[in-house]
Amino acid sequence: MSMQESFSRNLAEVRGRIADAAVKSGRSAEDVTLVAVTKYVDAAVTAQLVAAGAKVLGENRPQVLEEKANAMSDLDVQWHMIGNLQRNKVKKTLQFASMVHSLDRESLIDAVSRHAAEDGKVVDCLIEVNVSGEESKHGFAPDQVGAAIEKVSRLSSIRLCGLMCMAGLAGDADDARREFALLRDLRDKHAADAPENVQLKQLSMGMSGDFEAAIEEGATIVRVGSLLFRDVL
Ligand SMILES: *Cc1c(COP(=O)(O)O)cnc(C)c1O
Repeated sequence: MSMQESFSRNLAEVRGRIADAAVKSGRSAEDVTLVAVTKYVDAAVTAQLVAAGAKVLGENRPQVLEEKANAMSDLDVQWHMIGNLQRNKVKKTLQFASMVHSLDRESLIDAVSRHAAEDGKVVDCLIEVNVSGEESKHGFAPDQVGAAIEKVSRLSSIRLCGLMCMAGLAGDADDARREFALLRDLRDKHAADAPENVQLKQLSMGMSGDFEAAIEEGATIVRVGSLLFRDVL
């Protein structure tokens, strides 16, 4: 099997499982966006995944995002920044990313807003929430999310689309599911009294090991990496 055929098979499997989990939660496959996380591979391999049908790609390092987006500028793909973002990398990132999942602190919100305004752009963003409370995890504490939403709502260069989280490393599958449910509950709570220009439609949660649970708890975006590369690398 060629690499591209292996990627097609893996993509089909993951999409099938996404569809099943969506149906289980009373939705359809189209309600869930697959972000193919390509941080494990170089631009040439990433291009094979795109040839196999991946449309939205996620990277967690600005430098790599830039290199790959440049290398693949002729392909019809969107890039999402899903990882921790330093302020001095914001300008570059905004050149290539159609969505930033990881607004995890006030100073970053300010930097994204400022650079987007300078470039005359409005950037789609998610607020990252530390749902597990683990110190190694980035994101606003659940009780700070309201203030973060309020802050972003006053910035016209950021279009807030929803919330993002990663399940804790220490927990098991039940803990992950509880954390996904917590993110959904936070969204529901804040959506009810959000300023008019704020949409909290998107919930970016779930990775290779837990994306079905995340979808059952309301994920609209899943970020899947390792599963797509199984038996390929
Ligand atoms: C690496 C990564 C993923 C994908 O994880 P897999 O377990 O490989 O599917 C998702 N989200 C973020 C933020 C990541 O850094």
